Amino acid sequence: MIPALLPNFVRADLSFSHGEGARLWTDDGRTFLDFGAGIATSSLGHGHPHLVAAIAEQAAKVMHVSNLWRIPQAETLAQRLVDNSFADSVFFCNSGAEANEGLIKMMRKAMASSGRAERHRIICFDGAFHGRTLGTLAAGSNPAYRRGFGPVPAGFDHVPLNSMNAVRDAIGPETCGILIEPIQGDGGVRQADRRFLRALRSVCDEYGILLGLDEVQTGMGRTGTLFAHEQAGIAPDVMALAKGIGGGFPLGAVLATEAVAKHLTPGTHGTTFGGNPLACAAGNAVLDVILAPGFLASVQRKADILKAGLTRLVNDHSGVFSEVRGDGLLLGLRCVGPQAEILAACAAEGLLALPASENVLRLAPPLVISDDDCDQALRKLRRVCGSSRGFRRVCGSSRGFRRVCESSR
Ligand SMILES: *Cc1c(COP(=O)(O)O)cnc(C)c1O
Repeated sequence: MIPALLPNFVRADLSFSHGEGARLWTDDGRTFLDFGAGIATSSLGHGHPHLVAAIAEQAAKVMHVSNLWRIPQAETLAQRLVDNSFADSVFFCNSGAEANEGLIKMMRKAMASSGRAERHRIICFDGAFHGRTLGTLAAGSNPAYRRGFGPVPAGFDHVPLNSMNAVRDAIGPETCGILIEPIQGDGGVRQADRRFLRALRSVCDEYGILLGLDEVQTGMGRTGTLFAHEQAGIAPDVMALAKGIGGGFPLGAVLATEAVAKHLTPGTHGTTFGGNPLACAAGNAVLDVILAPGFLASVQRKADILKAGLTRLVNDHSGVFSEVRGDGLLLGLRCVGPQAEILAACAAEGLLALPASENVLRLAPPLVISDDDCDQALRKLRRVCGSSRGFRRVCGSSRGFRRVCESSR
């Protein structure tokens, strides 16, 4: 019989009753160091007092009113995002997929409303992940995610990452713009070269097409700047945010320049929940912390500690890990053996990490981790490497994750 909770996720047999900072506890008292942060989402860690208080206070006042009325919390959050980015205007929604849908619609609408309706095609990249709606599945590159779901919207062309020749070849009279993740998270922590991002900006300007960035995973401080594209010295025309923006509360956003945003006139796009008082109170509380003086510098400093440690780890254990990838606190270790076994061994050591494509173990800890959290994670990873001959026996199959979790007391 099918479980009441639809079994579309492969879940490890672990459940957490509470957390604090980068730590999570199970009911039976086991402690885990959370270097997955709910898939790069719990940006302030667990139980952050400022975020908890903001949500509790707003929940007691009013949670939801609908977008038929003004929402001061959303106006404030939008203004703060505008003040700290390339954007002139912000649309709030509830998830990364919904943000990317909004981004795609905004790009197409901007072309259609400026007399270039034939320009509807968007260039995307091999390895891309933009969400699970039909539109974002079409923009993503993973055919397994599309299988069995029938036709997806047309108008997406995929080219290899970091190949300017391929991008130039793909641009045609129907091209509307380019959509790219500065670092592919799900795709294996693969980075778009900074030079490549700059070249994409130039080619978009050359052809009068739009640059869209999916910063759902890389944005909101994850890479040590508020947005990852700042490090390439470029600005997009439109950008999708979600994951870390609400610190664990569901919130997404599309940020755009006036030239793009002005075409979404009243009635053209919408959402019921998007940007409600509760979600925006959470977003404002997250921004309070991320924009506090010194916070992003501290993210960068901890990222440097972690990356240096991971580089040493890979040098010392080249039989387990072959490569360090990523930037800031979005890092990947390419595994030599099956990634599922290493993830299981990490969990057995009390370290939660994430899978990614290309056999990569992804680390995306809360942005508030301490130096000591970094040291502890590195020590746990060393122990995993040290016992790498043993853990094949402990969990010799990809199902092993569950069993190890059950036995890791
Ligand atoms: C997670 C993710 C999405 C999808 O976000 P959901 O909130 O799951 O819809 C889209 N793009 C990127 C880059 C992501 O990491």
